[in-house]
Amino acid sequence: WWSGVEMGPPDPILGVSEAFKKDTNPLKMNLGVGAYRDDQGKPFVLPSVREAERIIAQKGLNKEYAPIGGEPEFGRLSANLAFGQGNEIVSSGRNVSVQTISGTGALRVGATYLAKWFPGNKTVYLPRPSWGNHTPIFKQSGMNVDGYRYYDPTTCGFDFNGAMEDISRIPEKSVIMLHACAHNPTGVDPKDEQWKEMSQLVKKRNLFAFFDMAYQGFASGDVDRDAFAVRQFLEDGHNICLSQSYAKNMGLYGERVGAFTVVCKDKEEAARVNSQIKILIRPMYSNPPVNGSRIVSEILTNTALNKQWLEDVKGMADRIITMRQELKDGLANEGSSKNWEHIVDQIGMFCFTGMTPEQVEKITTEFSVYMTKDGRISVAGISSSNVGYLAKAMHAVTK
Ligand code: PMP
Repeated sequence: WWSGVEMGPPDPILGVSEAFKKDTNPLKMNLGVGAYRDDQGKPFVLPSVREAERIIAQKGLNKEYAPIGGEPEFGRLSANLAFGQGNEIVSSGRNVSVQTISGTGALRVGATYLAKWFPGNKTVYLPRPSWGNHTPIFKQSGMNVDGYRYYDPTTCGFDFNGAMEDISRIPEKSVIMLHACAHNPTGVDPKDEQWKEMSQLVKKRNLFAFFDMAYQGFASGDVDRDAFAVRQFLEDGHNICLSQSYAKNMGLYGERVGAFTVVCKDKEEAARVNSQIKILIRPMYSNPPVNGSRIVSEILTNTALNKQWLEDVKGMADRIITMRQELKDGLANEGSSKNWEHIVDQIGMFCFTGMTPEQVEKITTEFSVYMTKDGRISVAGISSSNVGYLAKAMHAVTK
């Protein structure tokens, strides 16, 4: 049956891990994967998550199916985390918030919903560049994909003027995708004032904003601070949609727990939207897994655990910020005359180093430092014991 099936290309990020595994150099570093590591380079289970699991185990819960959209309380908690406690949207019941298979599932449910029901132009405009999975998610869901300028390679920073110019040319009633914080892959976020201007422009152009928030808390260490852009858009009257992931900020990668939210005009509209989202989810995977959402709900409702979690998130974000500083200092100590300020200006898990594909090739073959071809490194993969080695390697290939 399958003689006509062509061999597809390997996933670019997982390909980096494969090559890393085969390398026998004891100094090798894998900076390709977007998962947090502790300062010993080990995967990290948050203490708040361990405690939540202990509490849940004691409850002796059953394994019955969740509702199609997950537990309603989970949806409410997720929307409150994004929009702020006591926000008007959740209290008036005009949001639809369903549990999804992590952030990817939220994007997929969202894209499928827009492809079927968005009343305007079925094209989503992504920042250039965007997370590599955005394009296939939207295309496979039946949306067209286009883009707007975002990253400026000359400054390794945000191309605000380019973004504003491009957004002002997006056809009215299109969808614009915005990374809420800690933009992947660049680590470059707009400043608060720039978000405010972007919000006004998006409104003026009558565009629909789809926020992807995969790193709430990971950028600044403060979950409220990191929700600034989302809350600013809501305050400006945008009825957005939102994907959320607990992979990074709760370290629940393999539990696959996230949420998709649509903010509606009123409760009645929300009921109609909710009914259609359930109709889309039911034949995709019927209903979401229960374990991850129990952990999230326990953490978000138990006061002591919630406090612990906020400390856990801050600890991860702070370690990343420290590694950025040490890498920049290390490059200066090596005698690099290049400007590496962007390493500390960028935020979140990733850093777009500005290294060329040739330099990436060289750092991999000569120093066993693995990263994606675009020069992106996962700062979470650096530790105090190897940051010096990385600085030396980066200097050697960029001087
Ligand atoms: N959006 C962005 C921008 C991401 O970086 C990621 C994770 N790499 C996701 C969504 C979704 O990840 P997950 O499905 O693991 O929650």
